[in-house]
Order: sequence, then C-alpha cells, then structure tokens
Amino acid sequence: MELRLYDTLTRDKRPFTPIDPANVRMYVCGPTVYDFAHIGNARPVIVFDVLFRLLRHLYGEAHVKYVRNITDVDDKINDRAARDYPGLPLNEAIRKVTEQTERQFHDDVDALGCLRPTVEPRATEHIGEMRSIIEKLVAGGFAYVEQDHVLFSPSAMNAANGVLPRYGSLANRSLDEMIAGARVDVAPYKRDATDFVLWKPSKPGEPSWPSPAGIATPGRPGWHIECSAMSWKHLGETFDIHGGGIDLVFPHHENEVAQSCCAFHTERMAQTWMHNGFLQVEGEKMSKSLGNFITIRELLATNKFGGRSWDGATLRLAMLKTHYRQPIDWTVDALEEAQKRVAKYRRTLERFGGGKNVEVPHGVVSALSDDLNTHAAITELDALNRRANGVTHEGPTSEADALAANAIAADELRASLRLLGISVASERSGAVNQIFDQNIQRLIAARTAARANKDWKESDRIRDELAAMGVVLKDGKDADGKPVTTWELAR
Ligand code: AMP
Ligand code: ZN
Repeated sequence: MELRLYDTLTRDKRPFTPIDPANVRMYVCGPTVYDFAHIGNARPVIVFDVLFRLLRHLYGEAHVKYVRNITDVDDKINDRAARDYPGLPLNEAIRKVTEQTERQFHDDVDALGCLRPTVEPRATEHIGEMRSIIEKLVAGGFAYVEQDHVLFSPSAMNAANGVLPRYGSLANRSLDEMIAGARVDVAPYKRDATDFVLWKPSKPGEPSWPSPAGIATPGRPGWHIECSAMSWKHLGETFDIHGGGIDLVFPHHENEVAQSCCAFHTERMAQTWMHNGFLQVEGEKMSKSLGNFITIRELLATNKFGGRSWDGATLRLAMLKTHYRQPIDWTVDALEEAQKRVAKYRRTLERFGGGKNVEVPHGVVSALSDDLNTHAAITELDALNRRANGVTHEGPTSEADALAANAIAADELRASLRLLGISVASERSGAVNQIFDQNIQRLIAARTAARANKDWKESDRIRDELAAMGVVLKDGKDADGKPVTTWELAR
C-alpha cells in the first residue's frame, strides 16, 4: 500500500519512499526532563508512535529505527534542581531531577500504549558529536567564536553556493525579513540579530564540558545542536522522517536543518518533515496561569479533569480522533465519548473471546497510509464493530454464516486496535495499576528515608508530589510500634 505523508518543507502530501527500505529512519524531538509531561506533550508521542507502528507494519519490525531524544541539559532543569535539592551539589541534584522525570515520563507514555523508541539518546551523552559538528561549522565559515560563545550565522549559510537549502525555507520565512524585523537589543556577542547560539560558557557550578573551537572556558551546548548531533550519531547525515510539534518548526527545526546541512554539505536533513498541531483545553490555550494546565499523570491517576480518572486507551483514542495536523480541543465531552467507544470495542472483543490472528483490514491500513488519517481509521473501527455485532443488513443469510462473519469482524477489530496501539483489554489494566503502585511505593520509601535523615523539606516535597498525583498519605505505627505510611487515592 502506498504511504503518503504531508511534508512541512514542501507543503504537500507526497508518496513516501524511504532512502533505504531495509532501514527506515525517523527522529522525533523528545522531552526536556524537568517536570511531569502535560497532555499537549503526549500528542507528538502518541502520533509518532502510530507512525512508528504503521512503518513497522509496512516495512517490517526489524527495518524501522525510531530515535527520540531526552534533553537533559537545560536552564529549566538547573532551576528545578537548585529549588528541589538545595543541599546537594548542583550536578548531583540535576541527575536526580532528570532520572526521576525520565522515569515518570516512561510510566506515563507506557500507560498511553506507546512503544519505546529504538533508541532514546540523552543529550549529555552526545557532547562529543556536538563539538565535532561545531568544529565543522566553524571550519566551513558558517559559525564564529565571540566572547566564549560559538554562533551560527544564517547569513553566511545563505551566502554560500552549492546544494545547501536556504535558511528560512522550512518555516517559509525570508532571512531579510527576519533581519529587518529583529529587535534592537541584540546580545553583544552576536554579529547579526538572527545568529543563534551553538555553544555558550557555563556559569560557575553549572554543568560544563571542554569547549570546541579553541575556547578555553568550559561551556555547554545550545538546544538546537543537540538534535543535529543525536540524529547524526544514530541515523546518519540524512534520514527519512523528522517530527515534532508545530511550535518546533521555528526556530528549532529551521536551526537543526541549518546546522546539519552546513556541517555535512547536504541538501536535506530529513526527506519528510512532520508536525502535529497544538492541543488546547476546553477551547483555551493550556497554561499554568489559566489553571487549565493538565498533566498525563493527573488524567490517569487523579480526578482533576472531569471529576474522574481516565484509562490510557481512552486518552489515546481521544487523541487519535482528530487528525494530527489539526488543532485538537481536549474536552471532558470528547473523553467521555472516547470512553464509551473503548467500552463498546471491549464488549465486542470479550464477546468473541480469544480470536484468530488476521490481517489488519485494507480500509484501516489505507486510512492510516493517507497521511495518518486516524480519524478515518476510527470510522473503520466503528464499522468493524457494527459488523461484529451483526448490526448491518448486508451479508450472509444463515445464522451460522452470520456468526462466523461476526467473529471475523471481531478479529479484524482486534488486529486494527493493535496496529493503532489501543489496548482495550480491561479497564485501568492491571499493568497500569501496577506502575502506579510501584511508583507510589518508591516515593513513600524515599520519603521515609528523608524523614529518617530529618530532611523535612525533602519529605514535604515528596508528600506534595504524591498529593499532585491524587495520593493521600497516612502516617501511623505498626503492631511493633514502628512508623508505617499507608496511602489512598483522594476522593
Ligand atoms: P517541550 O517540552 O515544550 O519542548 O515539548 C515537547 C513536545 O511536545 C514538542 O514536540 C512540542 O511541540 C510538543 N508540545 C508542547 N505543547 C504542546 C501542545 N499544547 N500541543 C501539542 N504539542 C505540544
Ligand atoms: Zn529537536
């Protein structure tokens, strides 16, 4: 079946032809690990998980490589570490924050039915690759050193001849307009307002590495260079698909293209650029100040949204009901509708028991192959569900034939749900509950240890973290008089 994907760069939907069908390569920008992921962050994770599953279906599991990075060096991480662990050396505190957040992220997106990517590289483990790209850019005249910073010059890129794309082509902006429209108070180390940071000096105590380009002061990378380095290391100089949310087109992806194409003298960094639309909540932009900011964890494990918790399959189905390029309005009504649909499918699969392994029906694969039309795929699921329950009037006449046709439709529904990663097996599955129980036990153990060390600040912080998950603690004593902590979900 022909897969067609919309490319942000060329602004059209084209047949997708992998550079090497035996090794289809996709890179998606992953989370910056400093706090619980919100439901907007879940959108690219779910959307590109569906694409990953579809590519595996079309090209074979062993022939698809999906890389999603973890950004573990960032000012927001430093701030959080200093705030949460004031007693610890900053680097140790940072490790605690990033490890804990990475675990939370995995637990959350696992519960949403997302497969782990083939590789999940961490930025801090690819500083060598970043330095080497920066050296190439300086040597090629695309970047310069000023006041211990290394800056990329889009003007130098656009002045170069040859295969290079023009800076601004992904975001469809002209560099001249960007320069004209730039603010006047440009940082003193920049020659041009549009120059962006590849490397910067670290402040004392901040994470730092030996600097490239002959700079004596230790420093740290800018954000954009991370993804050029990690995609290069794991996927090569050019690869098939690069994805992320629409907000990343400019400047992040534009700058990734600039860095990678100039360093490797290539025309394209990725053959296809894909971007998901934004998610808003009940018609409003999600923001902390509006009070409608909602994390994946709160949806799964608290009653903060709609007065109840939601299972992973419901959240996933609700996300996929809207085509990935459209904006999505995240509402309680839509979750209730998704929840009913999941229950309907579940009843059908339960009714037909074990079932046979069958091919995913053509209608479902062809909907997904049309630029990931998950909305149309769900319409197909509904049709299969109706056929499984004998609600259509077409088809066989004898009762035995009708039942056999019903069973086939149920098997096809099961196979289709599997391709979409929607697991309707059982309500708030045992696996999900187990993740939360283990998580909660781990946090309670950490709090007990903090209390034993009289680290009241840490112990309060953990209690607050649990409270945010909807978990209330009760401190008591066991039969031998030893302190024990029990928990329950807030009502
Ligand atoms: P961030 O942590 O802000 O870098 O975002 C991580 C990923 O989530 C990126 O791919 C963003 O584009 C995406 N993202 C962030 N907020 C939203 C939102 N409200 N709707 C959809 N995607 C989002
Ligand atoms: Zn990126």
